[in-house]
Amino acid sequence: MKLRQVTAFLRSRTARLAASYLTIIMGLSLTFSYILYKISEYELGREIPPSGLFRLYGPDLDYGYRYFFERRIEEARGHLLGRLIILNLFVLVIGGALSYYLARRTLRPIEHAMEAQNRFVADASHELRTPLTALLTSNEVASRKPGLTLKQAKAVIKSNTEEIVKLKGLTDALLSLASGDSVGLGLRFQAVSLQDIAKEAMNRVLPAAQAKNISVQDDVPDVSVNGDPAKLTQALTILLDNAIKYSPDKATINLSAKTKDGHAGLSVKDSGIGIAAKDLPRIFDRFYRADPARSKPGADGYGIGLSIAKQITEHHHGRITVSSAPGKGSTFTIQLPLAPKPKR
Ligand code: ADP
Repeated sequence: MKLRQVTAFLRSRTARLAASYLTIIMGLSLTFSYILYKISEYELGREIPPSGLFRLYGPDLDYGYRYFFERRIEEARGHLLGRLIILNLFVLVIGGALSYYLARRTLRPIEHAMEAQNRFVADASHELRTPLTALLTSNEVASRKPGLTLKQAKAVIKSNTEEIVKLKGLTDALLSLASGDSVGLGLRFQAVSLQDIAKEAMNRVLPAAQAKNISVQDDVPDVSVNGDPAKLTQALTILLDNAIKYSPDKATINLSAKTKDGHAGLSVKDSGIGIAAKDLPRIFDRFYRADPARSKPGADGYGIGLSIAKQITEHHHGRITVSSAPGKGSTFTIQLPLAPKPKR
C-alpha cells in the first residue's frame, strides 16, 4: 500500500468510525486493568508479615522472611503488570480488527444509500437538463428572429408548452419516487377490489387508447387484495399506459387476473414491440429505456414508470414480473397478497 493510500484510508469514514469503536473498547479494557491492578496490589500488600512475627527464630531470620515475602510480592506485581500489558495489546489487535469489521458493516448500507441517492440526483438532473436546454434555445431563437409573426410565436409557445407539460410529468414522477423511498409510501392498506382498480386505471388511459384506436379487454374477476387503492391504480395505469405506448394502432390489450397460493396476479398483455432479452433485467431501473422505445414515435417517456410500479408493488409485499418477446409483445404481472376474508 502506498503512503497516499494509507493517508486516504486514515481519513476515510470507516477508519474514523473504527477508531471511535476502538477507543471505547480500549478505554474499557484499560480501566478494568487499572482497577484489577490496584485491587491485586492492595491484596498482595496485605500478605507481608508484620515486622517481628518471626523474631522467635532470631532477628536475621525475621528479616529474611520479610525480605523473601517482599521479593515475592514485588515479583507478583511485576508479573501481573506484564500480563495486563500483554492482555491489553491483545485487546488492541483483536479490538482493532473487530472495530474495522463493525465499522464496515455499519457504513456499508449508508454508503449504498448515498451512492443510490447521488446516482438518482445525477440522472434526474441530466433528464431535466435536456428539455430545459431545448426550451431555452427555442425561446432564444424565436426572440432573436426579426419580424417574428404572431403565427410563428404561437407555434413556439405551443411546442414549449408541450415540453413544459412533459417536464411537469417528470417532476411529478420524481417526487412520487422520492416520497415513496423516504416514507414507505405512507400507504393506507385496506381490502381493494381488483375490478375497481382495473376500471379506474382504464378510465385514465382511455384518451391515449382512443387516440391509437386501441381496445382494452377487461377480464378481471371479483377478487380483493390488501393494499392502497390509489397507489395500486397508479401502478396499473403505468402498465396500461406502456402497453398502449408500445403497441401498434388498432391493437388489443388484455387485462386479466388469476389467484394462486394466497396471491392475485394482475396481468397486462400486449402484442406490441416487445422487449429484447438483454433489456429485460434493466427495464425496472430508474431512467432506463430500451432503444426501440426511444426511437418509437409517440412513445415519450423518461424511463421511470416501471421503477415506480415496482416500488409500489414491493411496498405492498408483492412483486412485478415480465415476460416478453421482441416483435410479439409483453405481459407484465403484478402479484399481490389477497385481502383476508371478512369474518362472518
Ligand atoms: P418509459 O415508458 O417512460 O420509457 P418505463 O419505466 O415505463 O419508462 O419503461 C422502461 C422501458 O421498458 C421503456 O422505455 C421500454 O423500453 C420498456 N417497456 C416498458 N413497457 C413496455 C411494453 N409494454 N412493451 C415494450 N417495451 C416496454
